[in-house]
Order: sequence, then structure tokens, then C-alpha cells
Amino acid sequence: MKTYYGNREKCYECYRPKSSCMCGYFEHINTDTKFVVLMHPKEFKKVKNNTGHFTHKSLRNSELFIGIDFSNHKRINDIIERHDSYILFPSDDALNLTHVNPKKSEKPLAIFIIDSTWACTKKIFTQSENLSSLKHMSFTTDRVSEYEIKVQPDDAYLSTIESTLVVLELLNKHQIEVIEDNLLSGFLRPFKKMIEYQKNLIANPQSHAVRFKKHKTSK
Ligand SMILES: [Zn+2]
Repeated sequence: MKTYYGNREKCYECYRPKSSCMCGYFEHINTDTKFVVLMHPKEFKKVKNNTGHFTHKSLRNSELFIGIDFSNHKRINDIIERHDSYILFPSDDALNLTHVNPKKSEKPLAIFIIDSTWACTKKIFTQSENLSSLKHMSFTTDRVSEYEIKVQPDDAYLSTIESTLVVLELLNKHQIEVIEDNLLSGFLRPFKKMIEYQKNLIANPQSHAVRFKKHKTSK
């Protein structure tokens, strides 16, 4: 796999190799809720597994930051100050968005999402004092990850973009957001296309780049 991703030119919009740029597949969704995607520097360099970029690119009211200790991050502290902020973190006292409407303040909601492996997430969480004091949010869902290529620690694990979709659907349910169904159903399109691309690449590494381009233009 490495040779195909290694030195390829990168698209700095979707952070994919240019040969498999997913920019043509994004929905661009407006929300009142601010989404903040946080990424460990180690994860940022990976091209394969990080759907945080896809999430950020799909949501107009989102920001993405790379780092470990965000305690004195001016922009993040500003967002926390001006929003009713939650962080997606499945602790025992997390607000379960599936059952509870989180809107209790005049301030707009902000939802922080850490797009990293569990080990990196823990590092960001323990080092960033401002984040560790945020309210936790979780959800329960029957959705199973479509990301078969990535080894999931357990069945309940969803990628960042899949988790975000569940959150968007639940925000709609609580009438905090009014996102059209067709936008929601297209939200995972770049993710699905990426999986399709990776599967085909594994099955047929030599000829795939050409076939994929054809497929994309015939969309
Ligand atoms: Zn791109």
C-alpha cells in the first residue's frame, strides 16, 4: 500500500492523494451548531484513515485544528466562550443525544470531535485543560461502521464522519437543526467512495487509478 500513497501529490482540500481526490463528492451542509474537529499531529499525516478532513470539508460551520495541548489555543477558547460546548466522549455522565435534547442555553451549540486513535485522543484530552472541562456527549445507535479496511477495536466504533452523521440526524430529531434528507443521505458519499477506491486498489493495484478517474467523471 505504501508505494501508492507514499510520494503522491496531495490534494490540500480533502487531504487525499490527488489521484484519488474526493472533493467532487462532498455535500456542503449549513448548521447553526459549530463543529470543531481536533486532530493529533500523528493522525494528520495519515492519508488513509482520517475522515476528520471529510467532516470538516462537508460542514460549513466547522473548524479543524491540529495539536495535542489546546489549553491556551486562542481560537478554541473563543469558541468555548461563545458557545454551549460539548465534546463527543462516551463517559458515564455524558449527555446521551439519542434520548436527551442538549439545547438548554441561548448560546449556539458547539460540538468538539477528536479525530484520532483512542491513545491519541486520551493524550489530547488529558493535556488540554479547556477540553477536559467540557460537557460530554454520547449517542446510542445501531449503525455499524462501513470501514471494513480499518481494523475496528469493536463493533461499536464508528469513524469520525459516521459519528458526525449520527449527531446530525439526532440534532434534526431534536429540531435543533433542519438539514434536508438528501444532504444527510449524501454525507457519507466521499467516505464510501474512498472505501470503494481502497478496495479496488487492493484487488487490482495496477490498473485502478485509470478506472477510478473514468468512474468519477461519469458521476
Ligand atoms: Zn481533494
